[in-house]
This record gives sequence, C-alpha cells and structure tokens, in this order.
Amino acid sequence: MRVAVFNTKPYDRQFLNEANVAFGHELVFFEPRLDETTAPLAHGFAGVCVFVNDVVDAAVLAVLQAGGTRLLALRAAGYNNVDLVAAERLGIDVVRVPAYSPHAVAEFTIALLLSMDRRIPRAWSRVRDNNFALDGLIGHDLYGKTVGVIGTGRIGGIVARILKLGFGCTVLAFDQHEDPELHAIGVAYRPRADLIAAADIITLHCPLTPETHHLIDAEAIERAKPGVIIINTSRGALIDAEALIDGLKRGKVGGVALDVYEQEGDLFFEDLSNEIIQDDVFQRLLTFPNVLVTGHQAFFTVEALGAIARTTLANIADAEAGRPLAHRVAPETVSGIH
Ligand code: NAD
Repeated sequence: MRVAVFNTKPYDRQFLNEANVAFGHELVFFEPRLDETTAPLAHGFAGVCVFVNDVVDAAVLAVLQAGGTRLLALRAAGYNNVDLVAAERLGIDVVRVPAYSPHAVAEFTIALLLSMDRRIPRAWSRVRDNNFALDGLIGHDLYGKTVGVIGTGRIGGIVARILKLGFGCTVLAFDQHEDPELHAIGVAYRPRADLIAAADIITLHCPLTPETHHLIDAEAIERAKPGVIIINTSRGALIDAEALIDGLKRGKVGGVALDVYEQEGDLFFEDLSNEIIQDDVFQRLLTFPNVLVTGHQAFFTVEALGAIARTTLANIADAEAGRPLAHRVAPETVSGIH
C-alpha cells in the first residue's frame, strides 16, 4: 500500500524501512505531525500512519477521506487522539499495535526506581566534575521493602515478578482481575486503599480511565507511609502533579520517578532546549533532588520499535489484501490505554 507516514523521527524511519523489506509497502515519510494544516500532504495515499501526538479529529479525517485515504494505522497501542466515530462514518478503518514489548516498560520501571533512589544521575554528574563526595547520594535497599503494584496486566505483572523474585520485596497488588500466577509466587492482592497505606514504594501500571484519573491525589498521599516512593511509567494523569509537589515539599513523599506527565503533549518527544518552558508545575517538579523524570521513553528499545514496525506493516498488509483486521479499533472499543 502507498502510505503517508507522519510525525517520523530518524529512528521511526530506520525501523519501518527495515521491517518493510518483508512487506514492500510504498512508505513516504513526513516529519511534521498530522493535523489540519498537514493533512493535505496525504492526498492520494490509501494509508496514513501516525503516532500518539498526531491530531486525528473529524476535520482531519474529512481531509484524509477526500484525498482517498481508507486506512489509518497507529504506531501505538493508544487511540485517544483519533475520532473513531468520525473515522467509521467516513469509511476509514483504524488499526493499532495493541502490545509490543511489556518487558521494555517493566525493565525501565526498575531502572527508573533504582536511578532515582540511588541518585545515579546525580552521582554521574558529580564524578564527571571530579566530585567524589557521597553526601546527598544515600538511597535504600530494595530487599525487604513492601512494593504496591497498581495494575497487574502485561507490564505490572512483569514488574511484580522482578521485584518479588529478583529483589526479595514483599509485593502487594491491586487489580480487578487477579493473576493466579502472581498469587502462586506470593504476590498478595489487597484493596487499593490498603495497598497505598502499606507500601514503601507504589508503582502504577493501570490504564488511564475516568476511575484511575488522579488516583494518586492529596488524599492518597495523606494515606501513604511517610517517605513513600512513587513511580509512574503508565500515564501522567494517574497522578495529581500539584498534590505530588505538595507531598514532596512536606517530605511526606520521599521520592518520585516519572516517565509520563499529565501535560506531556506540550513537551515530550521534542528538543525544547532553546525554549522557555511555560509549565510551572513541570518545572517545579524538576527542582527536587529526589525526583527523576524521563520523557516517555520506557517503550524505547530495539525490540519494541521492531515489534511496533512489524505489526503496523502487517496491519496495513491485511487491509490491502482485504483480510480481517485483527487489530482494528472500532468506536465501541472501550479502553483507557493511551
Ligand atoms: P494491560 O492492559 O496489560 O494491563 C493493565 C492492567 O490494569 C489490567 O490488568 C487491568 O485489569 C488493570 N486495571 C484496569 N483498571 C484498573 C484500576 N482502576 N485499578 C487497577 N488496575 C486496573 O496494559 P499494559 O500493557 O500492562 O500497560 C499498562 C499501561 O502502561 C498502559 O495503560 C499504558 O498507559 C502504559 N504504557 C506506557 C508506556 C511508556 O512508554 N511509558 C508504554 C506502553 C504502555
């Protein structure tokens, strides 16, 4: 299929081109995001391929349809940026990559926790400055700590296993669907409020839904243990960032590691090193010595990018051949994954 691929960085092009040897689609890469101003670039392309921050609302979809597009292929699991009702009305099928590498995100979660708590970025910048003092670098043993895992699906389940079997933590979990394999290794499911009250470390792996929006808020922080460490590699809006800052200022929260942030759409994936950042909440978060933030990179491994490229191109091949679309997203699909 002839496909207009929007919002591409060099790494997207590399992985898509490598995977495309097996498919032979005609991929034309565009650097800008898809939105109303760039949509005309897709004129004459049967397929359009986008990422999480492209704007695929009704107006954009109308331009795509008028230009002959009949397939929208998402290089991501989430589809909150797509007006699915408008896509269906316009006869544009939407496909996605439901799962690529839960290990990438789970392993990064542990890396972020250890890097923050053991102050590794701070230590490295000191050592490069010939400053070998240890003041301010003190961390904690993970062994023996109680970790609360909220959401024990693909990613949370792996995190729970690594912490339980690898580090010797006591692992508490909360999920509507209890995983018997986690039970079998000694993970204990608890009500969410009990988990929050008992955990030294809380790590979030549930999707963003109306129910989970700001699940870590002022009340949850109040209920938590003094010095609680909070990790979020899931979705930014699971945490009320202002309540988090208040908890950090009071010393109630002992450490925070984030790969996601509620307003990340204005910041992440771009080089803004010459810009003035207008988000005061984000800037305040960066001032704490016990906070570590990365820019939504937990998924970013060779394996995950390869899997995203292969599934995306297979989705396109299915559509072109008129086969059933295994990864089609319909308006009635209910999910909070972004
Ligand atoms: P998954 O669907 O396999 O697991 C999610 C789990 O959360 C399920 O077991 C579900 O039952 C549970 N859940 C749903 N509502 C809940 C609630 N209210 N409280 C507790 N648990 C609840 O998803 P996954 O593949 O493990 O992904 C988890 C999240 O990770 C995704 O929602 C996504 O936001 C995030 N993610 C982040 C990155 C990144 O690069 N940072 C990459 C991929 C996914």
